[in-house]
Amino acid sequence: METYDSLLAAITPSSGETREVFDPATGELIGTAPVQDVAALEAAIDRAEAAQPAWAALPDAERSAILHRVADAIEASAEPLAELLSREQGKPLNGPNARFEVGGCVAWTRTPADTPLPVEVLVDDESGYAEMHYRPLGVVGAISPWNWPMMISIWQIVPALRMGNTVVIKPAETTTLSVVALVAVMNQVLPEGVLNIVPGPGRTVGDALTRSPKIGKIMFTGSTPVGKRIIEASAANVTRLTLELGGNDAGIVLPDADPKAIAEDLFWGAFINTGQTCAALKRLYVHDSIYDAVVDELAKVAAAVPMGVGLDEQNVLGPLQNRAQFDVVDQLVESAKASGARVVLGGDPDREAVGNFYPTTLIADIDPHQELVLEEQFGPALPIIRYSDVDEAVRLANELEVGLGSSVWSSDRQRALAVAARLQAGTTWINSHGGLHPMIPFGGAKQSGYGREFGVEGLKAVAEPHVISG
Ligand code: NAD
Repeated sequence: METYDSLLAAITPSSGETREVFDPATGELIGTAPVQDVAALEAAIDRAEAAQPAWAALPDAERSAILHRVADAIEASAEPLAELLSREQGKPLNGPNARFEVGGCVAWTRTPADTPLPVEVLVDDESGYAEMHYRPLGVVGAISPWNWPMMISIWQIVPALRMGNTVVIKPAETTTLSVVALVAVMNQVLPEGVLNIVPGPGRTVGDALTRSPKIGKIMFTGSTPVGKRIIEASAANVTRLTLELGGNDAGIVLPDADPKAIAEDLFWGAFINTGQTCAALKRLYVHDSIYDAVVDELAKVAAAVPMGVGLDEQNVLGPLQNRAQFDVVDQLVESAKASGARVVLGGDPDREAVGNFYPTTLIADIDPHQELVLEEQFGPALPIIRYSDVDEAVRLANELEVGLGSSVWSSDRQRALAVAARLQAGTTWINSHGGLHPMIPFGGAKQSGYGREFGVEGLKAVAEPHVISG
């Protein structure tokens, strides 16, 4: 599947229910995606269950080698995968976008493949002997969102496979083709039944996946309201859960930060993937003494970053993936404008245009309790809040129910670390925001979810700990 046409041909359904897929930048029809039902899901779970014992019985080194061959296959199809992702999701090929995302899929496949989880000796002394084994859970169900559809699916799939589980994945409705294509490429290498995909509605197929007694664990990435429904659904079977839910990350710029030096990193922390990123900077608190300078420097960077159709090589910001998200951003910015906040940049979308383009928007002098600050905008509109007392900034950063990421910006590392220690979040970055690494555990505090992905902790999360004692 080394060309775009061969990739699309391989994943175009020949029968069954389908839906047309349109490019969110141009409105152009790009393909048809399968829409399956609960009966198809049950058949997929049965296939995964049947394949699991043989997959788990492979020597660990062989599963690792197979996953490296999966990474090779993704690399061999990287360009057509990136093109499809760009057309369906809207994100540009260049910048931290489609090619970057496919590259991330390779990295997040190779790292778990190279990370063993050997038996741990817990106690070995006169008091006794005990060791910890990490057993497969069986069939893992994965449910992924539309913002980083390929990479997040990989985060859910690969550690589960590494630990000897098989997988059934349900992709988001609006980015189905990207995940169907990724799975097709991976299944060039994987044995039959090990990785299965069932595209379909969240409220039927997704819901049934979370209620199935044959599923050992659900890996879910998406919104907090759906995460809460999944917690309820998991109760009947005590199904294990990793929940990567919504965020509304705060960044605090301390008075000693250098506005010019931090402007570009602040920009990408907030606007990566055109703001449609779970752990993007979504509320920026800046000390009064450097507020105007930070706003000016950020505006200079933001105004120079090209937004447009993803396949145009010069663009690094794209459209919102779907109209519903465009409307969320539009409504929040309008409410901020109506509240008297100052529009520094953008805020004036062309609502009649075909593409879902919302312009890069900076909103200054906004009330800390305005809706655009309190709600997750998940788009290219950043509220910048003025503060005069660091304690107040910390209190405002911590006052929401979510706590995925956060950041502190300062020229004094010790000062930044002292503030970081007070923030309620799964990750706090110093002088950057949102960078991820396949060996560094990632996940949310508070209502941003529970459980961690990546690294050794991520492998343990898709295994059943089993103590052998005596
Ligand atoms: P969403 O919750 O609407 O959908 C996510 C997935 O859940 C989709 O596949 C959907 O079909 C499925 N789903 C919907 N209802 C379901 C149900 N009742 N049972 C089972 N599955 C169901 O989220 P979204 O709009 O696709 O993604 C945006 C949200 O995801 C944002 O809040 C963002 O912050 C969050 N997110 C979090 C992370 C993280 O790592 N914490 C990463 C990316 C996105």
